[in-house]
Amino acid sequence: MYKEYPVCNEIKSDKTLALDWDETIGDYPLAFRALAKPYDRVIIVTVNNELTLSEACIWFERSTDDLQIFCCPYENMGDIPGWKAAVCYAEKVALMFDDNPDVVRACHQKGVNAICVSERAWKFEK
Ligand SMILES: [Mg+2]
Repeated sequence: MYKEYPVCNEIKSDKTLALDWDETIGDYPLAFRALAKPYDRVIIVTVNNELTLSEACIWFERSTDDLQIFCCPYENMGDIPGWKAAVCYAEKVALMFDDNPDVVRACHQKGVNAICVSERAWKFEK
């Protein structure tokens, strides 16, 4: 079995799903809405400061009790992957989806399960 990151025993929750918005939920809205259904809680970890909680709640058919938005503060814009991974770690997410492979790598470094939505991976080629 291939494993690219260590298991993190600090993360015990299997109840919270973390999702990026732009080019993640935004590209696969129906699929992520279906995927999110069995989770007790969804958090959206994004740099999109135009997304509103009410818009997200309507889309996911959830209330503010079990859906939250974490929007990257200005002072963390220099290390978005590190900030997103820190949020996912602190919120003990079971799984994170993002289209930025650097976010996925930063999550893996913290032992957070993460999967890259690779439809537009060319955006991040260096
Ligand atoms: Mg994105």
